[in-house]
Amino acid sequence: MARYTKSLCRQCRREGLKLFLKGDRCFTEKCAFSRRPQIPGQHHDTQRRKLSEYGKQLREKQKVKRIYGVLERQFRKYFEEANRRQGETGENLLKLLEKRLDNTLHKAGFTQSRREARQLVNHGHVLVNGKRVDIASYQVKAGDKLTLDEKASNLNAVKNSLAIALKKRNVPTWIETNHESKTAVIKNDPARTDITLPVQEQLIVELYSK
Ligand code: SF4
Repeated sequence: MARYTKSLCRQCRREGLKLFLKGDRCFTEKCAFSRRPQIPGQHHDTQRRKLSEYGKQLREKQKVKRIYGVLERQFRKYFEEANRRQGETGENLLKLLEKRLDNTLHKAGFTQSRREARQLVNHGHVLVNGKRVDIASYQVKAGDKLTLDEKASNLNAVKNSLAIALKKRNVPTWIETNHESKTAVIKNDPARTDITLPVQEQLIVELYSK
């Protein structure tokens, strides 16, 4: 499976904001964006140049791709599916991305980043309704029950992440996480208001509609 292999922190610096791609580290003083917020590369401007309309649309698309860890081809497929569905295309697009299994595990509090969640899925530690699912892009639906296998349930990283989620109470309302049994149930589809990312999805729709 193709994947993005460049530095994650470089992606934050390129987009000019913290994308929180590295879990715990993103909240510490080690965060590369906090230390050096400039665009990477030798000849960056210290002041970001004013972007054209096209530039803004392009950057918005890149930002969302990077947040969810999706490459261009797959992202385009999400857009086409979003466009086919009833309702607003931009909102549909974000909801499709939000319902990916890796994102859902992260939002349920099992991991500190989507990347860690994807690893759990890829390594076969995740069960959906009792069946092992190792496809990170699997779309969860209302009523699905997500469980970790015994090995993953006992990982310190998972325990710590759940403890943080419990303390911060930041699991969205469309997911119900049971911190004791380390399970999560999908209650309903996420609403646009559940997706709190700093994203203007309409710019992406405009870009692909050219
Ligand atoms: Fe981005 Fe996290 Fe790296 Fe900071 S530590 S630059 S938020 S990935």
